[in-house]
Parts: sequence; structure tokens; C-alpha cells
Amino acid sequence: MSDKIKMHTPLVEMDGDEMTRIIWKLVKEILLEPFVELKTEYYDLGLKEREKTHDQITVDAANAIKKLGVGVKCATITPNAERVKEYNLTEMYKSPNGTIRAILDGTVFRAPILVRGIEAYIPTWTKPITIARHAYGDIYKNTEALAAKGSKAELVITGPDGSEDRRLIADFAKTAGISQGIHNTDASIDSFAKACFSYALDTKQDLWFATKDTISKIYDRRFRDIFDEVFEASYKEKFTAAGIEYFYTLIDDAIARVIRSDGGFIWACKNYDGDVMSDMVATAFGSLAMMTSVLVSPNGYYEYEAAHGTVQKHYYKYLDGETTSTNSVATLFAWTGALAKRGELDSLPRLTDFAAKLELATRLTIEEGILTGDLYAISSLKTKRQVDTETFLLEVAQKLKAIV
Ligand code: NAP
Ligand code: MG
Repeated sequence: MSDKIKMHTPLVEMDGDEMTRIIWKLVKEILLEPFVELKTEYYDLGLKEREKTHDQITVDAANAIKKLGVGVKCATITPNAERVKEYNLTEMYKSPNGTIRAILDGTVFRAPILVRGIEAYIPTWTKPITIARHAYGDIYKNTEALAAKGSKAELVITGPDGSEDRRLIADFAKTAGISQGIHNTDASIDSFAKACFSYALDTKQDLWFATKDTISKIYDRRFRDIFDEVFEASYKEKFTAAGIEYFYTLIDDAIARVIRSDGGFIWACKNYDGDVMSDMVATAFGSLAMMTSVLVSPNGYYEYEAAHGTVQKHYYKYLDGETTSTNSVATLFAWTGALAKRGELDSLPRLTDFAAKLELATRLTIEEGILTGDLYAISSLKTKRQVDTETFLLEVAQKLKAIV
């Protein structure tokens, strides 16, 4: 191997929690630092540091992505009541992903990593299905409340002139209940639509979009109308020239068609649909740990991450001194995605090439039957062996050394 690959602009590196934090360090030590003179601006989004800075660190990291253009993020804990106790938190901090997405705006694209030996549960799915999740608003930025018996919930829009448009949500005269207010903005939906149409053109895949506009005649209908306007104004001719299609349908119909399809398209989803459907698609293609995830902002910022969480159960085993066999592929591909994009933006072909080779070495390792527990359980390969978290990475390093 020749000298180490040099970088220009640093990546925004966002460390995280639990088992993925362990994997993060191993990936850097075993697969990146021996080959690349890594340049990063480091932000520790681990829960302890978020507590210490009252979550300012998360905001700083998001702003750093605006400055440097490309970030890579480790999975992080989103605190709930148990976590508040476990980590002695003064506040139940919001999801760091939510905070970052709100600052960058943009769309999350998730695609499964297909390898020989791991077949989709849906036999017709021979090509990846990429889910584009709208990363702003709806229930993720909601205001909700309990309503006592005898109360009443209303939706009030106060106009710029102070006038009030007041609509009844529910009358809780007979029983207590619950209510929530959600919103989205034309600007965010517009940039979501543009991100999806552009990504479809980039990757030469059809774009599907679905909402529940038969029921939600104003809210969901607005999404559909904005997509139509953006398509007609800026993308229709380009799609025809590229031989790809934009297809709108009702969400129920979309689900039925997705199941019957052979994949190979981008499925644009509203925030909640994307949250839920990406887990379904990932599982159907093999594992949440075999999924890439990238947030693309309308201003050309990119944030790469794993689609899964911090793998808490494995971490507790690790803390007890037990051997773990946790899949590092999604974390690894977050790094390769970020390095490849950095290489592309800075015109560093050696860096982009390294990222591609690291992905190849990872695939070759899995296709040779060297597997972490989750993949061992589902791989159809005849010869296979289960390895621990670190051994998997060492095996990938062996393959990588042979091809760089
Ligand atoms: P999780 O970390 O995704 O893990 C759930 C289960 O899925 C694991 O127990 C494991 O199953 C399997 N799994 C997930 N990733 C795996 C991997 N890389 N290798 C092998 N198996 C894997 O979800 P969670 O345990 O519900 O959440 C833990 C924490 O993650 C929570 O605090 C949550 O807030 C956070 N979270 C963060 C993000 C993010 O930062 N993007 C996303 C989701 C959740 P087995 O135990 O059966 O082996
Ligand atoms: Mg989810």
C-alpha cells in the first residue's frame, strides 16, 4: 500500500451512544485511519455531552454541516423517561436527528444494501427500494395536549391582520380526550419535492409519491398539489428525456403496489410514512443494519448515518464482558457515503475510489460467508461462520488491503 490518502475539507464527525459508539471507534481504527489521513471536525453527540451542553452541541454540529457541507453521524439515544433516570438528565432532550433535520431541512433517502446470500422476504424484490422520507414537520413538530372532560379543542389560524379563522377539532363535553396540532410549510414541501425529483434523475429511477388526500383534503392535498406543480414546472421534460416516470397514488394503493413490485424505484413518503415504511423495507430486505441513510438538504448539504439505533441490548452485553456480534455495515456505509461525497465535492478521486473499495471489501466479506449474528441467521449461503463485532471488521480490512 502506498502513502495515506489525503483530505481537503474536514467532515463533520458526530459521535454517538452505546454499541454504535464502540463500533464507531473500531471502524475508524481498523478501516479508515490506516488508509486515510482523516480530517474531521469532531462533535460528541453522546448523551453525556448533550447533557453537559444542554444540547447546544447538536445545534453546533448541524451548523458545522452548513459550513463544511458533509457530515457523518453515529446513532444516538433519543431520551425517554427511562433514559432520563439512567443518565441523570435535567431534561428529556429531543431526538438529535430531529434537531439536525429541522436545521438543515431536506430529505432522507434510505436504500437497502443488497448482497448475495441475503434474499428479500418478498421474492419479487430483486432491486432496491429507496425510501425518501420528508424530514420536516407533521407529528415530529407537533403540539399536543390532554383535554379534560368538558373542554373543547379548536384550530385557530391568526392572520397577518389579526383576524381569526377558528375551527372546532372536538368537543369533549362527554368524555376527556386528546388533541394535537401539526403543521408543514409550502417551502419545505417544495424542497422535498425538488430533492426527490432530482435524486430520481440522478439515479435514473421512477419516483412514486402517495398521501391520504382523499381523507385529508387540505393538508395532504397540499403535498400532492405542490409535487404536481414542481413536476410540471421543472422536471416533466427531464423525466421524459431520462425515460423515467413520476407516479402519484393513494397511500393504501401504493402499499399494495410496492408489495407486488420488483423494486428499483424511489418511494417518496411523508415524514411518518417514511419513518415506519423504511423499517418495514429494511427488514424485508434483510436487516436494519443493511441500509444506507443520507439526508440531502436543498442547499446541497449531506448528512450520512446508519438507519438503526444504538443497539442497546448488545451494549449491555458488551459492558458485562460478553462477546457481541453486532453488524457494523450501516455505520461503515455512513462513513463511505460521506467520504465518497467529500471526494466528489473536493475533486479527490483517490478518496472516492477508496470509499468504493471499502464498500466492495465489505460485500465480499459477507458474500464469502463471514457474518455477524443477525446476518448469519438469515444468510442462505452453504458455508458460513459467525464472527464477533471486531473480527468482522478485521476480515473486511484483510480484503481491503488486497484491493487498495
Ligand atoms: P435498535 O438500536 O435499532 O436495536 C433494536 C434491535 O434490532 C437490537 O436489539 C437488535 O436485535 C437489532 N439491531 C439493530 N441494529 C443492529 C445491528 N447493527 N446489528 C445487529 N442487530 C441490530 O433500536 P432500540 O434498541 O429500540 O433503540 C436503542 C436506542 O437507539 C434508543 O435509545 C433509541 O432512541 C435510539 N435510536 C436512535 C436512532 C438514530 O440515532 N438514528 C434510530 C433509532 C433508535 P437483537 O437484540 O435481537 O439482536
Ligand atoms: Mg423508524
